[in-house]
Amino acid sequence: MLHCGEATPQFPDMTGDARPVRYDKVSPAFDAIPAHGDVLPVAPGVLWLRMPLNLTGLSHINLWLIEDDGGYAAVDTGMNTEVIRLCWDKVLTHALGGKPITRVICTHYHPDHMGLAGWLCERFGAPLYMTRREWLQGRVFWLDAQAQPPEFVVEYYRLLGFTEEALREVRSRGYSHFRDSVWEPPGQLARIRDGDVLTIGGRGFRVVVGYGHAPEHACLFSAELNLMFSGDQILPRITPHIGVYAPEPEANPLQEYLDSLDTFRPLPADLLVLPAHNEPFRGLHARLDDLRQHHAHRLNLLEEMTAEPKRVASTLKALYGRQLRPHETYLGFAESLAHLNCLRAQGRVTRELADDGVWRFRRTGAAANAA
Ligand SMILES: [Zn+2]
Repeated sequence: MLHCGEATPQFPDMTGDARPVRYDKVSPAFDAIPAHGDVLPVAPGVLWLRMPLNLTGLSHINLWLIEDDGGYAAVDTGMNTEVIRLCWDKVLTHALGGKPITRVICTHYHPDHMGLAGWLCERFGAPLYMTRREWLQGRVFWLDAQAQPPEFVVEYYRLLGFTEEALREVRSRGYSHFRDSVWEPPGQLARIRDGDVLTIGGRGFRVVVGYGHAPEHACLFSAELNLMFSGDQILPRITPHIGVYAPEPEANPLQEYLDSLDTFRPLPADLLVLPAHNEPFRGLHARLDDLRQHHAHRLNLLEEMTAEPKRVASTLKALYGRQLRPHETYLGFAESLAHLNCLRAQGRVTRELADDGVWRFRRTGAAANAA
């Protein structure tokens, strides 16, 4: 499966960040970044740790530990690699002084978040806390791994305009990317739902669910500490990947994402946001505005571009302003289609199947709705 990307390809590679970067409208909350295998306190009872990552444009993931009765609750876990398991060993032995993980909370099922949930849960006999759809999606993709991609996957890329050579590459990539980077996810769940309040170490954390990046992404908000673990739903410097993939080619996750931005609007303006990538920041409302504007701009660009009928493959270069590197291509196609499906739902673009078996998208000339 091909869902493991997090970064939109248009953003620069951030490998080598050692200090927080100044953003335009949001401000980094801290002057330091924890080294891999180390922790940094960011609020009473809350520790920040960072694990390495090797995904498109991303060098790291931020994980969090919340002081709990008798140990620590982990928020997200990192991918299942030997290096990250070693980093965890170091954190557990040194930083936590041998204290156990009491529960594992995953914001969503993507491999960098859920990758070591099964490993940590097995090791400590700890329960897994997730929304039901995220947990099910992770279980399904893990169990669905196959040596060859199903034919509908190859057909999906044909519809987008992949060449025969690129389709051969799709076949040779196999269909086990998720399983390759994820320890078997626990078969048992402690379900969390939007609005639930988890009591961790005597403090309340409210579950705030967002959509679009993942099926039922959980953020955790603490009014007492005035902070939120935002996972990938809200990131300060990159936009979360919003993609349409072969298992659900008619999906419209971008509209779900845009609608979700309003969910976060009532939260405090001076909230400390603890994201899974980049650095902790303040300036939530400015960031919500930026994210909306970013997608509105993309939608307008694609609408203009389809004055003449266009294949998805023909939109990428103009959309990203450069030729995508091979490893970015799948993410780029999925993002472009997510925007085109959103435009279709708004009546601004139509889709036809041309004689060559490839979709063409064409603008209708209907007035642009506010995205
Ligand atoms: Zn993600």
